[in-house]
Amino acid sequence: MNLFDITGNPFIDAGIYVLLNLTKKNDLKDLNKSDLKNSSETLVKILSDDSWRGSLTQILPNSKIANFSIKDRRGAYSKFLENLINDCSAPTPTKSCWGCNNRKGSFSSSRAEFPLTGSLKMVNFYPNWDNGIKICGSCLFSVQFATLVMSRCVDELVLLHSDSDLVMKAWTEEVMKSIRLQLSNNSFQGINYFGYKNGTNFIFYIASRIINEYDENWSEENPFIRLYFFTNFLQSPKVKFIDIPHPIFRFLAYIKQAGLNGEWQKFVHGKTKRFSRDKDKAPDEIIKIRPNPIYQRLIQEKTILYYFLDRKNHKNNVSWQLFQLYAEVVLKLKIETLEYIKNIGNLIVELMKKKESKKLLFQIEKCRNSEQLRKILIKLEKESLIYFNEPLFKVDDVATYLFPESEPYGWKEARDFLLFSIYEHGFKFFKQFVDEIKDEIIDEDEDEKEEW
Ligand SMILES: [Zn+2]
Repeated sequence: MNLFDITGNPFIDAGIYVLLNLTKKNDLKDLNKSDLKNSSETLVKILSDDSWRGSLTQILPNSKIANFSIKDRRGAYSKFLENLINDCSAPTPTKSCWGCNNRKGSFSSSRAEFPLTGSLKMVNFYPNWDNGIKICGSCLFSVQFATLVMSRCVDELVLLHSDSDLVMKAWTEEVMKSIRLQLSNNSFQGINYFGYKNGTNFIFYIASRIINEYDENWSEENPFIRLYFFTNFLQSPKVKFIDIPHPIFRFLAYIKQAGLNGEWQKFVHGKTKRFSRDKDKAPDEIIKIRPNPIYQRLIQEKTILYYFLDRKNHKNNVSWQLFQLYAEVVLKLKIETLEYIKNIGNLIVELMKKKESKKLLFQIEKCRNSEQLRKILIKLEKESLIYFNEPLFKVDDVATYLFPESEPYGWKEARDFLLFSIYEHGFKFFKQFVDEIKDEIIDEDEDEKEEW
């Protein structure tokens, strides 16, 4: 019978995956008491190093390992861990543990041993408004190990949680690689730090690291991934979190599968906000610390079509392949819709070539509401009848393909889809007029930014 259970609590679960990693075991049922003893010695060795001093007073304030008024912190914390190991057990008939609800809650734990748990008088995040929680040895033991996979982001602690066994194993391994190296060199660096000062950029780094470094069928995994940012100070603890939406994780997985990661990274990082004071900073540093509008919009489940278009130069910022992947996976558009838009874009470019005029293009770019877009579609239809002797649109096709009932999808997306297709087909034709176009649309473009 298992000594541990995955509970859904981020601290308990993270610790269990560290235990699996340290003991090189794949399954919970394989963890035995001797593994726990060895792992606890490793933990004490790491955490008693001076490099952890500052972080421990925040992670486990006043615990045996963080209380520097205790003469033998190492011994006291080892004893504490030993008591927990003695209590670790298979599920018991009494099921009063707050964490796993599968064993007896033999210990009364406060914020000193379990981050963010309450105390009667101080702010806490648990419902009972109780003086700590009742918890079993197995759960409390695993929480101690979560410390090793926490990292720092500005003045907050960061912990990843996922319902996916594969994600938890991959990220734990990613962090523990460095810890193992420190152990073999007997030289410790304290809490993990990846250089990120922007939490949204950090979660995207984690997701792409997992997808690109660990060979799993990620596009089918559909994991729930949440990054917690918290402080565990006694007086004013706080907690917030960021999630990666399922379709966005799947999109990143397909990007890797399609071999488009280089293009995607170049596109995304090119949009990172840069400030004049950043001129002496390395590009790698800037992408870790400055806001990235693409990531921000993806996290909020807003479309990023606007960023695919380079209106000033009349061209697209990404390939049709990447655009199609985004449209299919994130916007959930059908392949027939994309084929239709591709074809219509081509016909509109042919029309402009025939007229030897780019005016239609300016008019589409200048559409600022659904009424304007409707007018331009009618105009395109009329001109198609004149120049091609046949209609461009059929009523049913417009409803089905140009304005599909899919969220988030409206007139703005329809316009940007048309523009993407038009740029794709007409870039060479428009290139000769780039300067003229720049003059004409630059102010409109600024307006558009305001809207977003
Ligand atoms: Zn428990």
